[in-house]
Amino acid sequence: MAHALFPQVPASTLSTSTPKRRPPILPRSSVAAQFPPSSAVLIVGGGLAGLSAATHLHAANLPFILLESSDSLGGRVRTDAVDGFLLDRGFQILLTAYPEARRALDFPPLALQPFYPGALVFHSGRFHRVADPFRRPIDSLFSLSNPIGSIPDKLLVGLHRLRASISFASSNTETTIHRRLVALGFSPSIINRFFRPFLAGIFFDPELSTSSRLFDFIFQCLADGDNALPALGIGAIPAQIAANLPSHSIRLGTMVASIVPGDTLEVILDGGEILAADMGIIVAVEQPEAERLLPQIIADTSKRPGRSTVCIYFVADRAPVDEPVLILNGSGEGIVNNMCFPTNVAASYGPAGGPALVSVSVVGDGGGMRRSDEDLAAEVVRELGGWFGSEEVRSWRHLKTYRIGFAQPNQTPPTNLTAKDPRVGDRIYVCGDHWSSATFDGALLSGRRAAEALIRDLVP
Ligand SMILES: Cc1cc2nc3c(=O)[nH]c(=O)nc-3n(C[C@H](O)[C@H](O)[C@H](O)COP(=O)(O)OP(=O)(O)OC[C@H]3O[C@@H](n4cnc5c(N)ncnc54)[C@H](O)[C@@H]3O)c2cc1C
Repeated sequence: MAHALFPQVPASTLSTSTPKRRPPILPRSSVAAQFPPSSAVLIVGGGLAGLSAATHLHAANLPFILLESSDSLGGRVRTDAVDGFLLDRGFQILLTAYPEARRALDFPPLALQPFYPGALVFHSGRFHRVADPFRRPIDSLFSLSNPIGSIPDKLLVGLHRLRASISFASSNTETTIHRRLVALGFSPSIINRFFRPFLAGIFFDPELSTSSRLFDFIFQCLADGDNALPALGIGAIPAQIAANLPSHSIRLGTMVASIVPGDTLEVILDGGEILAADMGIIVAVEQPEAERLLPQIIADTSKRPGRSTVCIYFVADRAPVDEPVLILNGSGEGIVNNMCFPTNVAASYGPAGGPALVSVSVVGDGGGMRRSDEDLAAEVVRELGGWFGSEEVRSWRHLKTYRIGFAQPNQTPPTNLTAKDPRVGDRIYVCGDHWSSATFDGALLSGRRAAEALIRDLVP
């Protein structure tokens, strides 16, 4: 179970069934001394944003209580252990050049295992290699003549890659990713065969209507570092942050039903318990839930739907590809967007010397809940039989399907990814990937900003 990855939260702190329970007495800073003894900042949500906010409050010696509705920390960044395999809840990778992640995380203990800097693209019945021209120059030269794009396209990738590593491209005027790629001079073939599945795997948006600012940011990070998996699964990232927080300040299984603004700022829990929030509240939940809790403050009037994905895991006798490489669907057909063999990237994702783990991502809802997991898995295996050969996929056994209805907020232009004020009301602060970029980095950064804003307000 995923929560086994969080041994730092003793079981005694997990229960929420005592309605009259008071927050524990916490270490108090000079700032906290102006509040009643049991006061603490309340953080609603224990994903990366909430954990980041907690880390900064803790560093400032401010007492906090983090209220998390589920059975574990991490939010969307969790890993389950199933039959000896590590299953991330959806295909996720850490870009080691993420600036806030570099600040917040200690990389060596995560034992990060890098992907190949490039991808294999399935197109016209075979696989073609697209390589980072700077880190795999020879591979890149060999791929010049493949049909994934023209030679000028590949030179443009190199040029844009060079620009990205020299300067931060975010000063460009915001448009959609598709318009940015066209404006940069890329041909429809490289857009459709490479960029579309590659970026749809990151933003769950095959139309490429997401903000070009996110493309600029991700492209720069890809140029400056690796994309990697922690050896113990993506859930090792929040686990590392949580390990440095006092366990008595974390309440799992605690759903916030509502927030009552006003002079006596309070939160009401699902079971009816009322917690005073004299020192302030940091709301670190996903966008639809933030809109529910603070309807007058952060309603997204554009009502743009969030992004969905489905991730399907299989166990295979062996992996037909032995590299730690991301494989993209550049054929324009089928429901698979991207796939990989996580055990090729980090052997620790499966039992030692055992079978391979297969991770397949479908962008969107994969036909919705009307369609059974078995039916969807069977279609995926049929499709991938066309890629690897039906003999090869015969041994694949369906392990688990994750349907993630709200994977990311919709970040089509216009966006404000860097300058949203976390302070949205008297002692009320908001963070989360919808208040920054929809990435690990954006969530971590927004959490720090919310904590910093609250600390600034408390220290006159
Ligand atoms: C499948 C998938 C793949 C992704 N891939 C990548 C990737 O490769 N790289 C990358 O950088 N980003 C990726 N992302 C995006 C990234 O995971 C998110 O942007 C980030 O984790 C969001 O963190 P958060 O803290 O803002 O929100 P969340 O992680 O959603 O945390 C919110 C928390 O609040 C809790 N909560 C909600 N309501 C309440 C309530 N009423 N009371 C108490 N608690 C509540 C929830 O249980 C949750 O734990 C991916 C996301 C998904 C889903």
